[in-house]
Amino acid sequence: MRTTAGISSRGARRWAHGHPWIFRSDVTRAPDAPAGAVTVLDPQGRALGTALWSPASEISLRFVSRTPDTALDAGWWRARLAAAIARRDGVLGPDTNACRYVHGEGDGLPSLVVDRFDRWLVVQFLSAGVEAHRGEIVDALAGLVAPEGILARNDASVRTREGLARVVEPLAGTVPAEVEVREHGIRYLAAPHEGQKTGAFLDQREARVLAAGVARGRALDVFSYHGSFALHLARRADTVTAVDVSAAAIARAAQNAALNGLTNITGVEADAFDFLRAEEARGTRYETIVLDPPAFAKNRGAIAGALRGYKEINLRAMRLLAPGGMLYTASCSYHVGTPDFLAMLGEAAADAGRRIILRSVTGQPVDHPEVLTIPETGYLKGALLEAGD
Ligand code: SAH
Repeated sequence: MRTTAGISSRGARRWAHGHPWIFRSDVTRAPDAPAGAVTVLDPQGRALGTALWSPASEISLRFVSRTPDTALDAGWWRARLAAAIARRDGVLGPDTNACRYVHGEGDGLPSLVVDRFDRWLVVQFLSAGVEAHRGEIVDALAGLVAPEGILARNDASVRTREGLARVVEPLAGTVPAEVEVREHGIRYLAAPHEGQKTGAFLDQREARVLAAGVARGRALDVFSYHGSFALHLARRADTVTAVDVSAAAIARAAQNAALNGLTNITGVEADAFDFLRAEEARGTRYETIVLDPPAFAKNRGAIAGALRGYKEINLRAMRLLAPGGMLYTASCSYHVGTPDFLAMLGEAAADAGRRIILRSVTGQPVDHPEVLTIPETGYLKGALLEAGD
């Protein structure tokens, strides 16, 4: 018979409301079994569905199905992965060869990430429950996608909380150190083994196109990383300054500019706060600015400080805008929601003394699905702003 777990009525209500996580404090009877699939029972003994069990984690159970006793066998994983990949059909096409195939809970595949970079896959198993099914998942991906290699970027810190080792290792074939990504007419090198995230920031693909669509004159890409925004801006703007605190990132941005034959991008290795302050003092003006900082709020306690940081960079960027200039600004802090982000921008505009027009608010692209009942699937928001004076 299938291993079972008992949960509290509070836990059961959470699942009834569409959230798959059951915290340790809501587990009334832990499964007497290693990590893997279990059937979950409410206090009355009714079976609520099938979940992945993570013995060491604060998030003890992650539901994957409303059907109890679902066998999470090779066929089940293959079907769920195939459905996720099919949702991306319109994303991968002539415009790009890289996208996120699986966005964890957003695709009903808790704590699993699968990114495609051309002919290779990069995966992350971010819980013990999903790690227990690694063999079935890798086999299913090999069958569905036939990649030339699959790399596990299992170096994420959340793995420690699951009692899992942090390692980067090939799971099938070989994955090169660099993969050339095509993205709406631009090419850049992703670094699956050592780059941030799984090698590149795929989640800003559409935002780069949006920013490029309004780019002109003198442009600035702050928190540039490998220059992904800068490359797009450079096709329309006269000049682009790409700013990042990491020398390696700036070097990579220069390499990417050369790859595209672009000669109008200048890399600057600098702290963004210092750079923006200095430019303001100098009285420089830009027609186009992009702000794409790292997550300033890593946890709930950091929200107030993060909002101060976001406000500072945004108000300085607003002051640097030439009349009619455009600013695309983003936040990838899960803990700073869209309403708070927009309120912060309002405060920044007030302090900047500019009449700033909200042209559009952006969210996550189709390959990073944000599920309404699972707030944790959403983290990225952005706004396209215009200097109205
Ligand atoms: N815009 C990029 C992703 C940016 S990730 C893209 O679309 O691909 C955030 C970047 O901010 C990282 O490259 C990191 O090195 C840089 N960064 C972090 N803190 C910084 C700071 N204080 N000043 C400048 N850059 C910083």
